[in-house]
Amino acid sequence: MLSYQHAYHAGNFADVHKHLALFSVSNYLLRKKSPITYIDTHAGRGLYPLSASESQRLQEHSHGVEPVWQARHNASQQLLDEWCRALGDAQPDKAVLSHYPGSPWWLGQVLREQDVLRLYELHPGEHRHLSEQPLANNAARIFGDGLEGLKRQLPVTTPRLCVLIDPSFERKDEYREVAEVVRFTLAKARHAVVLLWYPLLPAAHHAALMDNLAASGIRKIWRSELVQRPKGSATHGMYASGMLIINPPWGVDETLSAAFDEVASLLGEPCCHRGRWLVGE
Ligand code: SAM
Repeated sequence: MLSYQHAYHAGNFADVHKHLALFSVSNYLLRKKSPITYIDTHAGRGLYPLSASESQRLQEHSHGVEPVWQARHNASQQLLDEWCRALGDAQPDKAVLSHYPGSPWWLGQVLREQDVLRLYELHPGEHRHLSEQPLANNAARIFGDGLEGLKRQLPVTTPRLCVLIDPSFERKDEYREVAEVVRFTLAKARHAVVLLWYPLLPAAHHAALMDNLAASGIRKIWRSELVQRPKGSATHGMYASGMLIINPPWGVDETLSAAFDEVASLLGEPCCHRGRWLVGE
């Protein structure tokens, strides 16, 4: 039973964190011509009108993408400037932030003829919305379980693989399932670049995921956390957004750290960014 709907949260601080990381990594990957398979295991619907009742209910975008968009003409980090320009391309009127694009849109932007994109979505309604989005012919929208789908695709036919795993973590078991799939993926494709999003909750369910992957034998994992409020400030709810980047392209950690520091300052106190290596470097 899937009850999570991303439309309630689209454009929040965690989306900015996740999609800026995805944008940066995919831009690094574009420096080489060799084909890439992108797999998005939990795609969502792809594009979210911010005027929709779901987005208006919690208004999470007002403490996420909106302050970043408002400051876009003064961005000091090149990555942030380029990300905001790309965000403008998703708007019917480029000067007005009316929509927030999800991971299928961000991946669709970097897709070249030689690449492949596979988008998995298990919620029938979300999948229907996703099917209505304009995407290139080499982007496949698949109604089904993304973790199982990813396993079935391995090894991929292209020389390079980039995976985004962005579950809703509605079940506690998902942390273990995700760790198993990441281990399986890296065993089949040692050089795969994997971006794994996780929430930081007071119950600290993510801790076992970190321990599991730190002990997995994977050689390089960069860990980035965008903290919205202090850990002890509430007994429930996400206080920070976490991102693991496995096998990050060289230099991406520094580029992202600088951009996330700028994002944190735009979101205002007590927001801050912590970047460090879980494994390697
Ligand atoms: N990645 C999207 C983005 O960045 O715009 C947001 C994804 S949202 C956090 C999680 C999505 O995963 C939801 O749309 C949910 O319906 C879907 N989902 C949940 N379990 C799934 C599964 N096992 N396989 C594929 N999709 C799943």
